[in-house]
Amino acid sequence: MATSANASALPYLVAAPAARRRGGHRIRALSAPAPVVEGAMDVVSEAELREKGFMGLRKTKLVCTVGPACVEALPALARGGMGVARVNLCHGGREWHRDVMREVRRLNEEEGFCVSLMVDTEGSQLLVADHGGAASVKAEDGSEWLFTSKRTDEAHPFTMHVNFDKFSEGILVGDELVIDGGMATFEVTEKVGNDLRCKCTDPGLLLPRAKLSFWRNGKLVERNFGLPTLSAKDWADIEFGISEGVDCIALSFVKDANDIKYLKTYLSRKSLEHIKIFAKVESLESLKNLKDIIEASDGVMVARGDLGVQIPLEQIPAIQEAIVELCRQLNKPVIVASQLLESMVEYPTPTRAEVADVSEAVRQYADAVMLSAESAIGAYPQKALAVLRAASERMESWSREESMQKLLPQHQLAIALPDRISEQICTSAAEMANNLAVDAIFVYTNYGHMASLLSRNRPNPPIFAFTDNANSRKSMNLYWGVIPLQLPLSDSMEDNFKRTIKLMKSKGSVKSGDTVLVVADSDLNRPCAATSVFQSIQVRIVD
Ligand code: PGA
Ligand code: MN
Repeated sequence: MATSANASALPYLVAAPAARRRGGHRIRALSAPAPVVEGAMDVVSEAELREKGFMGLRKTKLVCTVGPACVEALPALARGGMGVARVNLCHGGREWHRDVMREVRRLNEEEGFCVSLMVDTEGSQLLVADHGGAASVKAEDGSEWLFTSKRTDEAHPFTMHVNFDKFSEGILVGDELVIDGGMATFEVTEKVGNDLRCKCTDPGLLLPRAKLSFWRNGKLVERNFGLPTLSAKDWADIEFGISEGVDCIALSFVKDANDIKYLKTYLSRKSLEHIKIFAKVESLESLKNLKDIIEASDGVMVARGDLGVQIPLEQIPAIQEAIVELCRQLNKPVIVASQLLESMVEYPTPTRAEVADVSEAVRQYADAVMLSAESAIGAYPQKALAVLRAASERMESWSREESMQKLLPQHQLAIALPDRISEQICTSAAEMANNLAVDAIFVYTNYGHMASLLSRNRPNPPIFAFTDNANSRKSMNLYWGVIPLQLPLSDSMEDNFKRTIKLMKSKGSVKSGDTVLVVADSDLNRPCAATSVFQSIQVRIVD
C-alpha cells in the first residue's frame, strides 16, 4: 500500500504531460434564486431509469469543473449527468463565480436537476507568478535563466518571477528545478541573494502559473515555509462560497488532519455542518498523513495534477488505487481527478489510453471521476462528459457481470468503523440485495449515513436514499450508486414506504412485482430516538 510509502525515497521522473490553465470569463447576470421546490428524483436519474431500468442506473458520479468553455452549456452538462459543478477559485473573478453558482442553483430549483456545488480553494503553492503577459514561454536547451521573487514593471528576457520571497531557501547549486512535474528542467548554477540562476537542461514550455519543484539526488527537496493551507484569500473565498450556498469545499494542499479539523470546527460554529469538506491529496506531505486526513474529512480528491509535481508519475496509479481503497474502507467518498481526458481539451475524441484510465478509476470503485480543463477550457466539454459517462457505465456493468460470475469478494469489507451496528446492517443488507437480486434498495435517512454505508459495499442494485433534508440530499450526490431523493418523512416506516412507493409508481419508476430491499435508519430525528432505535432490513414486493 502506498499509503505508508516513503515517497521521498522514490526515483525521480522527468517527463510529464502538459498542464493546461484556465482563464477568467464573464457570463450574463442571473435573477434571484426561486424558492426551493421539494424534489423527488432528479430528472437525469428519472430519465436514466426509464430508459435503462434499475440495473442501467449509473453508479459512478461525474464532477465537472466550470470554466469559460462551459458556462453556457451548464444545462446541457446537467442533462449529461454532471452531479457536481466545481468552481475553481484559482481562476476567474468573484462576479463570474457568483453567476455560475446561481445558474447551477437555478437549474436545480427550476428544472429538476440535483447538482451539488463545490468550491475549490486556491491554496498556497510555489509557482511562476507571471510571464510579463505571455501565454507561454519556451526554454531552449542550455539557455540561462534567472528565477527571482523581485517584481519589476517590465518583463525581462530569460527572467521568471516566482510568487514567494523565500522560494530559494534551502536550495543548493546543482539542484534541479523542475517545472510542472517535467514540462522543463533546469539546473541551479548560482545563488544570487534570494534569486537563482539556472541553466535549462531539458527544454520545454513554461505555462502561466507553472509549478516549481526542486530535486536533489533523485528526491524531492522538501521544505516547509510555514505557509497556511488557508490563506486570507482562501478564507474570503470560503465566506463567499458559504454566502452562495455551496454544498462542499475542496481544500487544496492539505498538509494534515488539523487543516480539515480547523475548517470543520469553523463551519460547525456557524451551524454549517452540512457543508462537506473534501481534502485534496496533492502533496508529499498529505500522503504522509493520509489516513488521518481521510478520517478527518468528509471526502477526498485524488488530485493527480499537483501530485505529479511532487511524486514520480509512475507511482501515481498505485497511490490512486491505495487512496480509493482506503477511502472506501473508512467510508469517505473519493473523487479521482485531473487529466482523465486531457486530449479532449483540443480533440473531439479521447485517446484509448485515457478511456482506459477512466475505466480503471471506475473499476477501482471510485465514487466519482472529474473533468478539469476538459470542461473548463476545452473545446468539447459535453463530449468529454459523454465519454466519462459511457466509459463509467460500461465498466460498471462489466464489473457487475464479472463479480456475479466469479463471486469476487467485492462486498466484503473488514469491520472498521466506529458505528459497527449500522455498518453490519448495511453490509448484510448489501449482501442480501445481491444474493436476492432485488431491483432496488430503499434507505430512509436523515443525514445520509446509512446511505453511505450501503454505498460503501458497492451493491449491484441502485440505492434510493430518501431524506427530508435538502442539504443531506445534496451531500449524498457524491456517493457511489446512491440516488438521493427529498420528501417529507414521518415516524412510521410503513407510511414512508407506502408514500415513496406511491410516488415512484406515479413516475413509472417502480411497478407491481418489483422487489425492494428496505433499510431504515434509526430514529429519523425524533426526540425519543434513544429509546426507540429502529434499524431494520425488510424485503418488500411492490403490489
Ligand atoms: P487543481 O487540483 O485542479 O485545483 O490544480 C487538482 C490537481 O492538482 O490534480
Ligand atoms: Mn491542484
